[in-house]
Amino acid sequence: MKRVYEPIAYGLDPIKDCFWTTTVQKQSWPTLDRDLSCDVVIIGAGYTGISAAYHLAQDGLDVCLIDAQYPAFGASGRNGGFCCLGGTMADDRILDHRYGKDGRRAYHACEAAAVDLVQSLIGDLHLNVDRHSKGETIMAHRPKDAKSLSQPDLSCQENYGVSSVYHDQDELRQLGLHAGFHGARTLPIGFGLNPQKYAYGLLSAAQSLGVRVFANSPAQAIDGSTVSANGHQLKAQKIIIATNGYSSEDLVPWMRSRFMPVQSSVLVTRPMSQEELDAQGWTSDQMAYDTRNMLHYFRLMPDRRFLFGMRGGIFATPKAEAKIKREIRSNFEMLFPKWSQVETEHYWSGLVCLTRSYLPYVGPIPNKNSIFTGFGYHGNGVAMATYSGLILADLVQGKTPRVPYPAALKTIPKRFPLGRFRRQLLRPAYAMMQMLDR
Ligand SMILES: Cc1cc2nc3c(=O)[nH]c(=O)nc-3n(C[C@H](O)[C@H](O)[C@H](O)COP(=O)(O)OP(=O)(O)OC[C@H]3O[C@@H](n4cnc5c(N)ncnc54)[C@H](O)[C@@H]3O)c2cc1C
Repeated sequence: MKRVYEPIAYGLDPIKDCFWTTTVQKQSWPTLDRDLSCDVVIIGAGYTGISAAYHLAQDGLDVCLIDAQYPAFGASGRNGGFCCLGGTMADDRILDHRYGKDGRRAYHACEAAAVDLVQSLIGDLHLNVDRHSKGETIMAHRPKDAKSLSQPDLSCQENYGVSSVYHDQDELRQLGLHAGFHGARTLPIGFGLNPQKYAYGLLSAAQSLGVRVFANSPAQAIDGSTVSANGHQLKAQKIIIATNGYSSEDLVPWMRSRFMPVQSSVLVTRPMSQEELDAQGWTSDQMAYDTRNMLHYFRLMPDRRFLFGMRGGIFATPKAEAKIKREIRSNFEMLFPKWSQVETEHYWSGLVCLTRSYLPYVGPIPNKNSIFTGFGYHGNGVAMATYSGLILADLVQGKTPRVPYPAALKTIPKRFPLGRFRRQLLRPAYAMMQMLDR
């Protein structure tokens, strides 16, 4: 497989200390070791693939779900667990320009519907996912950001039909969200969850409906509607490619350069005592992120461990990984200085996926009647990838999706320049973002 990063990024090394893996039971899945046929083959067993498999099986279809490694190996098993709005880097001005006000509202409506979908799946399937937080809070890292956050937020009402609330520094203290931020705003949509418990809960529901799951079975080629993996043929009516940031350039030529994998890293501390939490003034389990372009995201989890994540890193080598690990720790200590003695027990990294349109693409691969794909959730795929999987399940059956499917999700992203070297584009982009964040 031709991929964008060094091989290490696609192996087990970046997740050897992933916290989530310690919270679920170890499982194993068979490897594809014979030819098979079914209605739909899904390539990639993250939220997109698992959700598509679950919804297709609910509709009575025979589904095979294969993964190059194992289910939830990719971003779905290693994310920050923010089930939140998002999926795009396009702001309202861009969305208005491209799709008009109605098109922009339609996109935002599906962001909120995506969070609702995860919520209903968790409820309907009785999944225990360590849920917490009422919406999410954006924290101003400079006084000028607090000033702009303090202005009335009309777009929240218009886009999501709910009101957001501004908090000044005094109120942040009372809320147990004190860490030197200059103000904040809470939007009451979204919640935190354990990403692996969610992924494996949904997967187990899909398997109980008959979905066949194969690990260590990388799709090597697609011919018509037949997928080759491990030297065997999977024949199907339809195929869904759900490989997102872990996609390769050569599985289908159309995908080449249309996705930009970007590294994101997370640390998790040991559980903290009440005294340690009080010392920092951060005692709330509200999930939060800051106003930086190179944003940090963080939340105090139900077991009193603190999760802290950020973007960064152009290379996936042991040396580059060690550097990012040092950087994330130093950013953590800069934002939460009273916890500088609190050890990092877990650290890992993974690939999120951007597109040139700044939006996810969910739909058919042009001129390939039988192949569909969903990718490009811009680091916010817990909800949006689940939603994309549901849309794909309907599209492969030739049905109008049962959930809103706005024009914004149907826009085919153009290719990035520089081919397999396109991650070099991130270097000036990151430098610019860091400058704007000062
Ligand atoms: C560190 C980190 C933190 C994040 N935090 C958040 C967050 O807090 N909130 C949020 O909403 N989103 C977050 N995200 C993003 C979110 O996790 C993703 O958008 C989402 O999981 C994407 O799901 P997916 O199923 O499309 O792709 P993935 O989960 O990446 O799955 C793709 C799968 O495809 C498989 N694959 C690739 N090629 C092949 C092949 N040829 N054959 C078979 N299988 C193949 C891979 O092995 C992988 O398992 C984060 C991501 C990272 C990396």
